[in-house]
Amino acid sequence: MAELFTIGLGPSSSHTVGPMRAAADFVEGLSGRGAVSIIRVKLHGSLALTGKGHHTDRAVILGLTGRRPHSVQRAEADEVLVQLERTGVLETPAGHVSFRSESHIAWCKRFVKEHPNTLDLLAEFEDGTSVIRRYYSIGGGAILEADANPSSTNVELEHPFSSAAELLAICDRTNLTIAGVVEMNERAWREPLETNSLLAQLRSEMFDCIDRGIEAEGVLPGGLGVKRRARGIQRDLISREKRDDPSTLFEWVSLWALAVNEENAAGGRVVTAPTNGAAGVIPAVLKYFETYVSTDGGRSHDFLLTAAAIGFLYKKRASISAAEMGCQGEVGVACSMAAAGLTAAMGGSPRQVENAAEIGMEHNLGLTCDPIGGLVQIPCIERNTMGAIKAINAALLALRGDGTHLVSLDQVIETMRQTGNDMRSKYKETSTGGLAVNVVEC
Ligand code: SF4
Repeated sequence: MAELFTIGLGPSSSHTVGPMRAAADFVEGLSGRGAVSIIRVKLHGSLALTGKGHHTDRAVILGLTGRRPHSVQRAEADEVLVQLERTGVLETPAGHVSFRSESHIAWCKRFVKEHPNTLDLLAEFEDGTSVIRRYYSIGGGAILEADANPSSTNVELEHPFSSAAELLAICDRTNLTIAGVVEMNERAWREPLETNSLLAQLRSEMFDCIDRGIEAEGVLPGGLGVKRRARGIQRDLISREKRDDPSTLFEWVSLWALAVNEENAAGGRVVTAPTNGAAGVIPAVLKYFETYVSTDGGRSHDFLLTAAAIGFLYKKRASISAAEMGCQGEVGVACSMAAAGLTAAMGGSPRQVENAAEIGMEHNLGLTCDPIGGLVQIPCIERNTMGAIKAINAALLALRGDGTHLVSLDQVIETMRQTGNDMRSKYKETSTGGLAVNVVEC
């Protein structure tokens, strides 16, 4: 679960959170090797093509200072970058190193065949030796070191599953809900009470982010001139006389998603769910649940645990990286996770949950990633509002049925994978196609 929901700075999980983590891991590995004289960074493929707008350079610098995505605060990050700009000296855990982004970060737009989001980190020591490491940012803030074996793990899960069919079979055999299965599996990592605390923390981080997004006003950074809208919409909704107007409900849900994604676009602190670009969908749908359906905290935890199970399936069987799958792998997956979570929280059976997750993705298949100016603003911010509304509809549709349906979740995940593989790279987080080339930047 912790892999699907991580806390970090925006605007992108694969382009900001992952690279920061890789750089922090890299410098941690340098300690005890002597004085470092030079550090160089090479960003490849999608990281180079949209990295400027996604703050990849800033993220790598922060990681090289030993900072990690879950603990770094926005103000602290700004301070580090201003100081580097002024002094040209980077304070890393391996010592002070001269560093200028213009000279020490290379943007290599050619793709590396192993992964579209690849970065190389190199350190030279004063004794003339050097270390180079290659990392892949594989989506949702997760990273993989090039030579590491991804399947090497000693963790034994109580109820391992790698497909929706297996997950449903476990539920049938054990009489557990999907949330119950995940909760049992989480015991491999921590005590149940700690899992509860983690869930409570994730929930409050999500809702704090909504509040911060609503509080803030002004224009988002990056030069597109996109204005923050959440605060104005909230004021208008509160002042409306006809509060029982049915459209108001959808406007509130949109507002909550908008608030999170405006915060993300501003480089604020968000919960990747499962990515930063798609971080507004799950908080908005969870807020909908707590506002309009129930305030039972246990059911909110079931929401998140169930959503995590569905996110895991996408990660396992396809990818949640837009550089591999387009936006269907980000907002589409978030929609599918939120639909499943809401269905579970509303008392749906495991088969109804699986049905909701399938509907949530079926109507996002083929969704491309074409952010204008490489910024996670257009179409990303509004797209999260669409994902949230669609997720609620998917849950309500699934709850109308008995869980039997024609297209299985496994089939729709496989369809997403094949569609992502067939999608041309200009539609996969490179800003070289779609809206990114048809809308002239101001
Ligand atoms: S278009 Fe979708 S996948 Fe691409 S950056 Fe925006 S939210 Fe992420």
